Amino acid sequence: MKKLISVFLALMLLFGVTAAAETPEENSFTPGTYTGEAQGIFAPVKVQITVTANKIIGVFINAKGETPELGGLAAEKLTESILKAQTPHVDALSGATVTSNAIIAAASDALVQAGADLEKLDANRKDKGEAGEKQEKEIETDVVVIGAGGAGMTAAIMLNQAGTNFVLLEKMPYAGGNTTKATGGMNAAETHYQKEQGIEDSTALFAADTMKGGHALNDPALVAVMANESAGAIDWLDTIGAELPKISFSGGASVNRIHAPEDGSGVGAFLVDRFSAKLKELGVEIMYDTAATELLTDEEGKICGVKAEGAEYNYTFRCKAVILATGGFGANEAMYTQYRPDLKGTVTTNAPGATGDGIIMAQALGAALVDIEQIQLHPTVEQTTSILITESVRGDGAILVNQGGVRFTNELLTRDAVSAAELEQEGQYAWIIFDQNLRDHLKATEKYVKSGITVQADTIEGLAEQLGIAPDVLKKTVGDWNGYVKDQRDPDFGRTTGMNADLTTAPYYAIKIAPGIHHTMGGVKIDTRARVINTEGKEIPGLFAAGEVCGGVHGGNRLGGNAVADIVIFGRIAAQSVLDYIK
Ligand code: ADP
Repeated sequence: MKKLISVFLALMLLFGVTAAAETPEENSFTPGTYTGEAQGIFAPVKVQITVTANKIIGVFINAKGETPELGGLAAEKLTESILKAQTPHVDALSGATVTSNAIIAAASDALVQAGADLEKLDANRKDKGEAGEKQEKEIETDVVVIGAGGAGMTAAIMLNQAGTNFVLLEKMPYAGGNTTKATGGMNAAETHYQKEQGIEDSTALFAADTMKGGHALNDPALVAVMANESAGAIDWLDTIGAELPKISFSGGASVNRIHAPEDGSGVGAFLVDRFSAKLKELGVEIMYDTAATELLTDEEGKICGVKAEGAEYNYTFRCKAVILATGGFGANEAMYTQYRPDLKGTVTTNAPGATGDGIIMAQALGAALVDIEQIQLHPTVEQTTSILITESVRGDGAILVNQGGVRFTNELLTRDAVSAAELEQEGQYAWIIFDQNLRDHLKATEKYVKSGITVQADTIEGLAEQLGIAPDVLKKTVGDWNGYVKDQRDPDFGRTTGMNADLTTAPYYAIKIAPGIHHTMGGVKIDTRARVINTEGKEIPGLFAAGEVCGGVHGGNRLGGNAVADIVIFGRIAAQSVLDYIK
């Protein structure tokens, strides 16, 4: 083995010396393999770099501790770019900035150990000059689907199965958008799963619950369609291997209606995985890193094309119809503060692609907007990392206290109510408090502890000291709460749920949280066939939309389980309408 290594090093030296002799001002390293390390979001990221005397010849990135969807992808993309650029200072993968920056820092560390002059590497970078003028490319197709989140992928599967010519554009280097983040499930009524499990439900009740949850601002026609077509959508998911058989209760529903994957995994990641697998099986290639920028119409105002920017080309797609499935605008601060100046500075839980592009492009063609100022806040978001502390933490027994050390609300009221209560507290934040017993039973908490956002102590008093709260006050608050759990009665705020376990097992944990932007309920106006409607109440011929880009389905407040229902049901409707339109 030793012999092999020396032969390898000798060869590398030889290679290095020869190359160095030809280009004396080139980069120079001490040949060998070096490992650098830097902290990512959840874990240290390690980068192993092999260099000859003047070339980076091997990059191995281990970012396995990061989110599974993005860690691997960032590792793959940055390996490629570092080798190509011959410097660690390459572009971050959009959507994975923290992980990318950790990779860049770890690679720099390794290269400094190898004796590199990082400034020289930058000056000599090898991928320079390639960014020049992009070439133009024109592509003929029948349909352009913009956005590969839940709605876009659903529509794409349907279009493919009908034998239609189409392209599916995605501006990020990966699919899934906000859909990936959905954890609960999909609401649906009168499904075969409900019948098999003896659950009585009706589409009328589903519609009524949705209207009530949305403060009756919703478009009743869209809500009726969502309810009526929900069981059919569940059947369709069965046919593509995306079964959601596990039914439970979700806030705002009169009966058990939320359908989730059998294995308890988050519904969004599960569906994105199944949709991606189905598209692959069907031979559909998603055009990644390709952002639609403009919708084109002919002299009669009918959709006839889309302009888009890719990494290598600027595209003009010539087509007959477009499905907008670009999601919401919860990641575009300039846009949400335009409609809601009060939300300035609020952090977001949204995927980075949720920048409202579809809304802006449709508006340019005169599309009407509905409920655009209706934005749902999630009450428990850690502000420095935007990590969302799942509702299950409160559901399993956590409480919220303010900086004064006292509770201030029933922690399990609707998201808007709890958020509003937090914003009334001094500093507009709160602490979520839980114990080791809760941590042991809820896997999600591991991620919070690993990412360093939790404060931890062996006693409540010790925890209070670290939080800057008077220890005796927090001790009394937690003591009182444990009594309420025992009595199953909360005389202070009337909480009746999430009271199955008290907070008595050390160590104790706290996370500082405040509201974060979660879902944009408003968007472009559609009719029940997913046709986009303009400000004069007329359809824009050839333009269809589905999912979070649309307004009207959720009204003033979206119920948990209705985002997934929305994307699957209206994704299917949009595809069917396109098929009817282009016939
Ligand atoms: P929905 O649930 O409504 O499908 P998602 O947020 O899951 O919404 O998906 C929307 C997708 O659209 C995201 O993957 C996002 O990156 C993508 N997207 C947004 N704007 C554009 C654009 N201009 N061009 C291509 N893709 C886009």
